[in-house]
Amino acid sequence: MNQTMSFYKFMHKQIIVMLLLHMGTAPGYLLMGYFYTSMVYESVWMLIMFIISVYGYVLYKQFNIKMTINDKQMWLTKVRLFMYIYSVSWIFMFVYYTSFENVEMHYITIATELGVAVVAATLLASQKNLVSFTVITLMIPLVVYFLIVGGTYAYILAFFSTVLAAVIIYSARNTNDYISKSSYQAYHDHLTDIGNRRYFLEILDSTVREQKEKYSYLLLIDLDHFKTINDTLGHDIGDELLVEVANRMKILSRENGSTLSRLGGDEFCILSTPLNDKLECTYQAEFFAKELLTAIRKTYILDGNNLHISASIGASIVDGKEVDVAEFLKEADMAMYEAKNAGRDGVIAFDESLSAVVHKKLEVERLLHFALEENEITLNYQAQVDKQKKIIGCEVLVRWNNELLGNIGPDFFIPIAENTGYIIELGTYILEESFKSIQEWNSRKLDIKQVSINISIRQLLHQDFASVVEELLTKYIDEDSTIDIVFEITETGTADDLKQLVQTINKVKEYGIVFSMDDFGTGYSSLSYLREIPIDELKIDKSFIFGLGDKQQALLVKTIIDIAKNLELIIVAEGVEEEYHREFLLDLDCDLYQGYLFHKPLPKNEFEALLLARELLLVQ
Ligand code: C2E
Ligand code: MG
Ligand code: MG
Repeated sequence: MNQTMSFYKFMHKQIIVMLLLHMGTAPGYLLMGYFYTSMVYESVWMLIMFIISVYGYVLYKQFNIKMTINDKQMWLTKVRLFMYIYSVSWIFMFVYYTSFENVEMHYITIATELGVAVVAATLLASQKNLVSFTVITLMIPLVVYFLIVGGTYAYILAFFSTVLAAVIIYSARNTNDYISKSSYQAYHDHLTDIGNRRYFLEILDSTVREQKEKYSYLLLIDLDHFKTINDTLGHDIGDELLVEVANRMKILSRENGSTLSRLGGDEFCILSTPLNDKLECTYQAEFFAKELLTAIRKTYILDGNNLHISASIGASIVDGKEVDVAEFLKEADMAMYEAKNAGRDGVIAFDESLSAVVHKKLEVERLLHFALEENEITLNYQAQVDKQKKIIGCEVLVRWNNELLGNIGPDFFIPIAENTGYIIELGTYILEESFKSIQEWNSRKLDIKQVSINISIRQLLHQDFASVVEELLTKYIDEDSTIDIVFEITETGTADDLKQLVQTINKVKEYGIVFSMDDFGTGYSSLSYLREIPIDELKIDKSFIFGLGDKQQALLVKTIIDIAKNLELIIVAEGVEEEYHREFLLDLDCDLYQGYLFHKPLPKNEFEALLLARELLLVQ
């Protein structure tokens, strides 16, 4: 690990401490010279000390937080040299004064020699090898002096001095071990034994300062659905998995010289070594991210469990831009967020257009939170007609009109609501409002057979879903209601969710609710879904209907209808815009039709007017 920023700052401060200590005590020798000797040696010594001090001060001034790591390392070597020379230069005065007859002078130099040894050991505690070296150099003259003086008394002092030197070295080394350990802990993640967030930010900070014409890439790696593993298998397995994932990434990072850290939870970050070309850097980022994804995807065997996990990776390019380092992380974070949105298990690189999209999403996310409170959510109803074009039902479609953003389509804000969890509150509101309409239409005896409501998978999988539905049914829907309620669900979600999904659907079906598979054909597991999920109706996605002009697509629609007929499902076609769509579908015996050819989604009162006008027409 490189020396950390705070360490350089610490050493920087020590220069001044050293200068002050020496400058405060050294003139004492001049005074002694004035009283006892010729002052010549003292003056020469003071001059040498002054020159070394100037050098120390130059080093102090030289230090700049923006220096590159290499420059800092070089600077540190010079500081060490300065401190060493500065300390051991006292030996000269010791040797000089102990040659005098005057015993008081001896006492003074012995005391200063000891003092300098202790001060040097304290200030240089962070430099293990230098401490021993300096203390030994300072103490040897003292021991030799006692040995030369001779006699029991002096030998005991020589022995004590040696012991003292050993004790000083021992305690300085102990302090050093303690400092290194606590700085290791401050910069390391205890679980995975890689750098932590603080460490990463410092490395990123110095990289940004260092990089003038060079580029590094930053990868932000977030595990997909890690929370589920933690929740279902427990935190111990979750921890083991994190360690294993970190190990796999550690091996790959070591191979290409990049720095891996854990930012927290299931979030990791990698910073590459500098590259000369920006394009090359982007290319390498993607290449390495894919290597990481492959490594992460491989099976984990933990505690007898076979586990699989994937990750979403956001990449950003770090250059010498004069910006806050957090900005680069934010960019990678935005890209990672997009990788999650794009279906996870992938990598997305940050660019300016992505920034615009993400900012819009964040703004939508923020404003969406107040949408219900501000009464900005309304419902539209789009008619569904039978083969004779008679309206037999409708689909409830949510609308959001915001003062700042205008009309936002559900295709845009529903996925955001799903991601933030707001869909639970929003979905319940939509259910309640739809049920109120059904209650009202039932009591007004409007001629409508079924009302379809879109339900998000996330909403359906929420533990309270069945009880919320039951509660709302009891509150709004009479036993003898003649209007069927259909829940439209889409074919998303993982196999893990399937069991719970089927359970909930079966439970809700007991309340008399019918299920419809929406957007059929656009998901990836269409056919297996049809087998596993107890649905009664199937909606062909509008993209297929729009493509009916194409022979292949037409054949596909025919196949879908055949399968649905075999499974005895009611078939609904959405996006019927043209007469020839209707005719084609009619030929294939499609049951229900929904689309602009008949009616667009309408506000409640307009939809009711439509129903009433048609009844009037029938009466006439
Ligand atoms: P969806 O459930 O497949 O709804 C059908 C979409 O197709 C609606 O778009 C509808 O306005 C549109 N559409 C119907 N006929 C035609 C046509 O002839 N031509 C064209 N071009 N479009 C047609 P909308 O209202 O924008 O809704 C989009 C999606 O948002 C819905 O697709 C559904 O997945 C979701 N959504 C809408 N309302 C809700 C809701 O209340 N809850 C949930 N969870 N999702 C909703
Ligand atoms: Mg729908
Ligand atoms: Mg649909």
